[in-house]
Amino acid sequence: LTVLGSLVLSLMLGALYYYMLLLRQSPERAMRRGIRRGEFFVEYQPVFHTATASLGGVEALLRWQHPTEGRISPDLFIPYAENEGVIVPLTRHLFSLIVADLPQLMQALPPHAKLGLNLSPSHLSAPSFHDDVSGLLSKMPNNYFTLVFEITERGMVEEEHALAEFAWLHSQGIEIAIDDFGTGHSALIYLQRFALDYLKIDRGFVNSIGQDTVTAPVLDAVISLAKKLKMLTVAEGVETAEQMSFLQERDVNFMQGYYFCKPLSIEELVEFCRANPAF
Ligand code: C2E
Ligand code: CA
Ligand code: CA
Ligand code: CA
Repeated sequence: LTVLGSLVLSLMLGALYYYMLLLRQSPERAMRRGIRRGEFFVEYQPVFHTATASLGGVEALLRWQHPTEGRISPDLFIPYAENEGVIVPLTRHLFSLIVADLPQLMQALPPHAKLGLNLSPSHLSAPSFHDDVSGLLSKMPNNYFTLVFEITERGMVEEEHALAEFAWLHSQGIEIAIDDFGTGHSALIYLQRFALDYLKIDRGFVNSIGQDTVTAPVLDAVISLAKKLKMLTVAEGVETAEQMSFLQERDVNFMQGYYFCKPLSIEELVEFCRANPAF
């Protein structure tokens, strides 16, 4: 009995030890394991034309459903992935998840819809960058979607290099959005040199509409600057009717936010578009 008892005890201790190892393993290993085990998936948030209220496209947002920790926010795991050198395999995985969703995306969205995805600036200087993007393009249905890469200038690589990569992306038919504009990471000088397609007004900025008297003149300046640079504007994080009409009056081109629609699973997106055929 004591032999059996100690065997059971050591098994239990072993299991506990293993569990602790799992919990204590580095975020890098947890993410690589998550990729292998299919713990990541994508949600799609609809983006609307301001003028017509019609659906312009979607933004793909990565999700991590951890088996023990539950849902982990991308605001947490994306910076980890960037610091631990996992962002490139993770983004490649994102591409493959989007490719797997393509049949449903084509069912949900009209031809020429924009398919936005977030790209980490460091990926631009990864040796595999062109191969990664070409791999995605080779699996996209011809001329059905316009890919839009959303990039912040946070940690942006060397300017000349970024310019060359943006030119290459344009040559591949990919459009580029400067993400999170107005967060303080944004240097105006980038806008002029980079000739990008979209300027995404950060949701923190949108959030201060009606609460902060400084917002209106700054937003006016940003929007007119974008127009002068022939960029289209996208307001993100629109949550109230007040914010919507404020942005509408200023001719912001696209809007997204909980006021219109939260990020949806691929099944929910198909259902949303079926229920709203006018979009
Ligand atoms: P982001 O690119 O600015 O994405 C928009 C974020 O705002 C998303 O948060 C979205 O769920 C949220 N959002 C949308 N509408 C509203 C609204 O009306 N109110 C509020 N409060 N929030 C709204 P999420 O999905 O948690 O993503 C956070 C950030 O993580 C993203 O910010 C992006 O920077 C990053 N991220 C997400 N997916 C990816 C990815 O695949 N690759 C990379 N590199 N970064 C990603
Ligand atoms: Ca974004
Ligand atoms: Ca953003
Ligand atoms: Ca953001």
